[in-house]
Formats: sequence, C-alpha cells, structure tokens
Amino acid sequence: MKRILMIGCALLAFATAAAAAEPVKPALGDEKSLYDLLDLERPELKNVKKAVEKGNIPAADKELLKYFRTRKPVQLFGLDLENIKVSKLEQRQADEALEHKFYAHKGYQPSYFYGDDIDWRYWPVRDNELRWQLHRHYWFIPLAKCYYLTRDNRYIDAWIDQYTDWVKKNPLDGVERLKAAGASEEEIAAERENIRFAWRPMEAGRRLQDLLTEFALTIQSPRFSPEFLNLFLRTYRQHADHILHNYSKQGNHLLFEAQRMLFAGIYFPEFREAAEWRRSGIEILNREIGVQVYPDGMQFELDFGYHIAAIDIFLKALGMARQNGFENEFPASYIETVGKMTTVTWNLLFPDYSNPMFGDTKSHDKASLKKQFRSWSRVFPDDHQLQWFASEGRKGALPDYTSQQFPASGFYVLRTGWDTDATVTVVKAGPPAFWHNQPDNGTFDYWRRGRNFFPDSGSYVYGGDSAVLAQRNWFRQTRVHNTLTLDNRNLDSTDSKLLLWKAAPEETVLVTENPSYEGLTHRRAFFATQDGLLVIADLATGAAAGTVGVHFNLCPGKVEFAKDGTLRTLFDDGNNIRIKSTGSAPLKIQQEEGWVSNAYRKKEERPAYAVEMPKKAGESLWLITVITPDDDARKGSIAIVPDQENTGSRFGVAIRVGGKTYRFGYEL
Ligand code: CA
Repeated sequence: MKRILMIGCALLAFATAAAAAEPVKPALGDEKSLYDLLDLERPELKNVKKAVEKGNIPAADKELLKYFRTRKPVQLFGLDLENIKVSKLEQRQADEALEHKFYAHKGYQPSYFYGDDIDWRYWPVRDNELRWQLHRHYWFIPLAKCYYLTRDNRYIDAWIDQYTDWVKKNPLDGVERLKAAGASEEEIAAERENIRFAWRPMEAGRRLQDLLTEFALTIQSPRFSPEFLNLFLRTYRQHADHILHNYSKQGNHLLFEAQRMLFAGIYFPEFREAAEWRRSGIEILNREIGVQVYPDGMQFELDFGYHIAAIDIFLKALGMARQNGFENEFPASYIETVGKMTTVTWNLLFPDYSNPMFGDTKSHDKASLKKQFRSWSRVFPDDHQLQWFASEGRKGALPDYTSQQFPASGFYVLRTGWDTDATVTVVKAGPPAFWHNQPDNGTFDYWRRGRNFFPDSGSYVYGGDSAVLAQRNWFRQTRVHNTLTLDNRNLDSTDSKLLLWKAAPEETVLVTENPSYEGLTHRRAFFATQDGLLVIADLATGAAAGTVGVHFNLCPGKVEFAKDGTLRTLFDDGNNIRIKSTGSAPLKIQQEEGWVSNAYRKKEERPAYAVEMPKKAGESLWLITVITPDDDARKGSIAIVPDQENTGSRFGVAIRVGGKTYRFGYEL
C-alpha cells in the first residue's frame, strides 16, 4: 500500500512541475497531449472521446485504460501469453534490478549498482557499448515477466518506477529545457552527450520494441494506473516519432529500427500516425533487403552474427505482418531472399554447430542456433535442409553437396562432410565491407573432428575511449588473421575476386586474389582433399618491397616446432595437425602474440607465428603451406616440390606426407 502511494505522489509531483512551468517546459515525455495523438474517431474510443470533449482528462485516462484492457487483442509476434517462461538469467536480471543493479551489458558482469536515486549517466568503464546498452533496459522484460508469472508487485513497481524515472531524467528535449532555464554551457554539453547515448535510434528502437512486451504483460495489473498509461503512451509515441525522423543511414541498425516501427504501427493502431509508422517500416525493409543482401544470400556486413540478426529482423517483421493481416505488403521476392539467407547460415557452420568468428562475430551457442533454425523452419516448412539443421538430423535431409561457394560475399566452404568426423575449411575473401568487417581477406578457419585449429581472433570489444579502442584494434589487425601481410601492416585494400572454384568429391580447389597493398597483389589458392589435407599456395607480386609474412594463428594448446620448421599440435586426444611451409626464398619463422576472443571482453592466449621472407621491388614470391592431419597414414617428413614451369596462370605442386603423395594444380 505504501508503495502505491509513493508512485502516485511521484507522478503527481511531475505533473505539478510540468504544469507550473508552462509554456516554457512541455509536459513530461512529450509536448503534445496524448489525446491529440490518438484517433478519437475510432468507434471503440467513443467513451474516451466524450471525456476528452468534457475536458476531463483523468476520466479519459480511465476510459482509455478500460479500453486497452479489453480491446480485441493485437497479436504481438513472438509473445505467447499462455506460455511465458523466465530463464535463469532473466530471473537474475529482474532480482538485481530490484536493487538497482542493472544488467547493462553482458560483457560487464556482475552488474553495476546505479544508485538508490538512479544515475542514468553512470559510466564505470568508458566503453561506449556499456553506456548505450544501459538505455536498452534489458532487465525490463524480465521484470514484467516475473510480475506476470508471480503477481509479486515488487517487480511491476520496479518496472513502473524505473521507466518513469528514466523518462524524467532523460528527456529528449533536455537541451532546450536547460537552455530555457539558463543552464551553463557545461551542463548543456553534458545533457547533449547524455541524449546522444539515451536516444540513439538503435536504443530508442530497442525500447520501442520491448515496451510492447512489457505493456502486454502488465496492462491487467491494478498497479498499471490510468496516469501511468497516459505517460506510457505519450512516451511511446515520442519514441516512434523520434525514430521516424532519425532512422540510421544504413546497416543492421536501420533494419532493427524499421522492424520495430512496423511492430509499433501494427500494435497501436489507435495512434493517428500508426499507419505511417507501419508503412515506413515495411518500405525500408523491402528496400534494404535488396541493398543489404548479396545475391548469394549473405548480409553485406559480412559478419555471421549480424547476418543472423538480419534474418531474425526480416522474419519478425513478416511474422508480425502475417499475424495481423498485412502480409500482402511484402513482395514474394522478400521471403525468397530470406530463404537464401538461412541457407548461407547453416553452410557456414562447422558440424558441431560452432561458427567462424569473422568480423565482430562471437561464438554462438548450439542451443540458440537450433532454436533460431526451428523458428525459421516454421516460415519455410518445405525447406528440408533447414529442417535437418533445426532438428540435428532427426527430420529433413542433408543437401546433396558438401563444399559450397558464396562468391558475391566472398565466403567459401571446403567441406569433406556434414558429420563430426569431417574436415571443414571456411575461407573469407570478399568485397569491401564496413561496420563490423575487418581487413582479413584470404583468412580461413580449419576445423577437423570437433576442433577448430585456426579459430578467427574474434573482436573482443567494440568501441569507446582510446584504451578500449586499442583493444579492439588489436583484434582487427590483418596480422592476427591467417593471411599474408606486407611489413605486418593492415591491408590497404579488401576487394577479393574469385579466380577459380572447383568442387569435386575428392578435392576442392579455390583461387582468389586480393589487391592487398599498393604494389602487392596476393593470390591465394586452397586445395582441400577428402582425407583432410589442406594445401595453401600464396603468390605475392608487384612493385612493392618489404617483408612478406604469412600468418598462422592456432587454437589455444601446446605446439612444438621440429628442426625443419614443421609445427605440430600436441593434444592428448590424438586429434592433431602438422603445418609446414616452404617458399621461393628461405623462410624465417617468427613467433607472434596470439589471442582468441570467443565472447565480449573474454580472451585466451594462443600460439601464433608467421613465416617471413624479404621481397624486392618487382619480385614475385611464392609460398606453399601444407596443413595435414597428424595420423598414422601420414607420419614422417613433409616434402613440398613445386613444378619448375609455374607461371602466374598455371601452378602445380607435388606434396609427400609420410607415405602418401598428392598432386595439386590449377590453370586459370
Ligand atoms: Ca577477425
């Protein structure tokens, strides 16, 4: 009882403050009266309209609450009120939030305490993501769910208190308010900075989406007062309006925002502008699916994680539209493109459902990938291959191929099979990309029998002050990828072209070329055999002089070098490889710093080295590397004998590994 009084008083206090300051200070949350924003001509709002016409806003609020508690339900895609579950993490997020310990970022745990009187500007580590993501309110849905399942008022009270507090302390027009109140330059600058974090369209969009779930889970509660409904709807509209006029220019942020606007427009048709929100979302998604997805089905940021996020966005939007009768606003090509995107996803996976971590991609867990595949499968019930991956082989069918190319985006999968005994090499050699991409053309992961021997370094962190940025930049470097550098520099150009792709049951051949540096072109050929051997032939040509290095970043674990420079991994389970390189000039082996990051702000040391040789101006250098499983059939020394008559367009090499001899070559 005491709690409810407190909330009531708090709201009253805001209302008084806002009223007293008129007309300089607008009403809390928005400058417009809620009832100018709603379409009161809708017959179901006739009682609300009557109260508004009498000038009785409290009565209108009451009528409006009654209406929202009983209106014909709008389906909120993805929310099943009959089947709400609280995960362990959500329970923790909700319980911590009761003590103002806010789960602002997965990478910064345990959660920080934001003060009894919440300080939404608290920024304990100067990583931009920590401050941005605080304003996504990750713990709000957990609070709403915990309330919904337990009816324990502490949860809903915390949600109402905290959202109200956030609205009060992060007004979108904060700068204007401070100017009008004669605040100092310093205060105004701090306010502007805060709005940049609190109201970035990405964060506003996240709230726009999550507020719907929170609303659906709490609207029936007696704690959800008519006054709070008024504040909720006014600020909700403010979010939608802000995004409508401030969409991100491009990339996944724009997709997220558009999908969330579509949800807003469909869920609250009572707003006058709802149809405009919906149409703007659909229009952007229809346009961007053509811009952001390569013809081979990969999202143009070339990042596995954001690729999956883009699929989810496209399908969520479609699902919401379908459930509420707007499906015909999407053309057939839209759904075909999303289907292609799902095909790229399982092609890039290793047989244990682990994923390459190119760009800003993190390690995804198998359970959530399978869950995603199952939800995609519901949209594509006739896709038997997707079904196979969704059910881990219990239903559906495997594709009739193993290796696969995605040349428009530059992903190539050299695969001996789909089972966990297989060997899979994923190569990244694509067009220029941005945002979450890294200068890594030619790099690869090599996975065999459950072990990724060359996991990508990952990204570690995104951005922030110079210390945080330095950490990010370490993981972005070309030299921490498995490719060729000049003087260990980052690539000047990332624009690989496919020269040859030949997938056959015994052997898959891939040749790509990247204009890596001014004066150095890097041609790289991969030969992958059915018995797990991977041979890489690098050719560096051009006017540039300097040190050419080919880098190998291995998985964490012990390794040893033999006298002839052959590296061997030393895993106890017998799943090991050997690596040997030879070049057109004597090679120097250079041990390097190595790290791999599977998750945000987590990293593990790993062995890494480069094989180097000096390059004179105009000289062409070649370097051949053999990566072989270290098995009984292939004990003994490794011999690499290139053909005498190799030219730019023709290449051949004989490889002997212990008792086995192989021959590889290509002609362009
Ligand atoms: Ca990387």
